[in-house]
Amino acid sequence: MAETLVRFEGVRKTYGAGGPAAVAGLDLDIARGELMTLLGPSGSGKTTTLMMLAGFEAPSAGRILLDGRDIAPLPPHRRGIGVVFQSYALFPHMSVAENVAFPLSVRGVPRAERQARVARALEMVRLGGFGERRPAQLSGGQQQRVALARALVFEPPIVLLDEPLGALDKALREEMQLEIRHLHQRLGVTMMYVTHDQAEALTLADRIAVFEGGRIRQVADPATLYNRPADAFVAGFVGENNLLPGEIAAREGEEVTVRLRCGPVVAAQAADCGGPGEACLLAIRPERIAVAAVTAAELGAGALPAVLREAIFLGDHVRLRLAVGDGGELLAKRPAGLGRLPEPGGPAAIAWPEGAAFAFRDTPRRG
Ligand code: ADP
Ligand code: MG
Repeated sequence: MAETLVRFEGVRKTYGAGGPAAVAGLDLDIARGELMTLLGPSGSGKTTTLMMLAGFEAPSAGRILLDGRDIAPLPPHRRGIGVVFQSYALFPHMSVAENVAFPLSVRGVPRAERQARVARALEMVRLGGFGERRPAQLSGGQQQRVALARALVFEPPIVLLDEPLGALDKALREEMQLEIRHLHQRLGVTMMYVTHDQAEALTLADRIAVFEGGRIRQVADPATLYNRPADAFVAGFVGENNLLPGEIAAREGEEVTVRLRCGPVVAAQAADCGGPGEACLLAIRPERIAVAAVTAAELGAGALPAVLREAIFLGDHVRLRLAVGDGGELLAKRPAGLGRLPEPGGPAAIAWPEGAAFAFRDTPRRG
């Protein structure tokens, strides 16, 4: 494991007295050279976490270490951290080159060196030759590249990006995601990248920290998050998932039997759940569910009877909304043009491979 650059130790943040904690006890290590994304819904504490590292907010408790040193005494400009925020606008009255030179001017870098470094930073974000323009003469994507150049120009050991692509349209956002990823690979600079968009987090990151309610639910690489979510929140937030309420009927080691509230009794892997009698959520990914236009008995042991409610054709795949048991509903996905679909309202059967369903406790563990 690479050396730790940033360490959050028991960090809490409460805005105002007696309010709920925006960040409720954060322990997180970021390795030197890593690109870590903080992924979570709005209000989960991602921005507050970055603001405390950048020095714009002070933790209410806990410590933040940069290179092993507690940074509490350092004001923002002494922390050597580059920031790109969605709302962190460029100075409109300055040229692109002057904007990028700004962090160097503040640090008293001599003029000749400043010019050379600005030219290099603009080249890096593919904006060589744009130095004389005003921000208003650039597209949204180009403006965010200037902001990126401004954050990188003083060669900080770590750059913080808070939803930097939020204002861009989808195509440009995807192009910029790859650009940031390649820039990170080329420069080897440590990055912390905040987003509420899971596709963006999966595209960019070496590792993803999933936030919810001011806490980290899981820190893992994209494949682990998807295939081995730590709890029901992560299972539902990263990628699509069916989460059906039920109760553990029996447990033998990591194998459980779940009685679904809608009726059927199914086998599952114990992901994070209790024993017999405890409430749980059964998680099954839509793409793992096979749907056949036959009865459950014809499909074989373990198959469940279902009724197709709706099939939505989406070009490369079809989304199937299925009724199961008494009031249960499941989403299944399958490649388009793959065999016959059940008639809407007609008999159908569903099944999934052994090991594809997981049981989670249905109230996430706190603290
Ligand atoms: P995220 O970036 O994940 O959307 P934030 O860190 O911005 O989340 O916010 C976390 C919580 O803290 C939210 O409940 C938000 O309303 C609250 N909060 C954020 N900034 C402030 C502030 N300056 N004053 C009071 N409450 C705040
Ligand atoms: Mg935010």
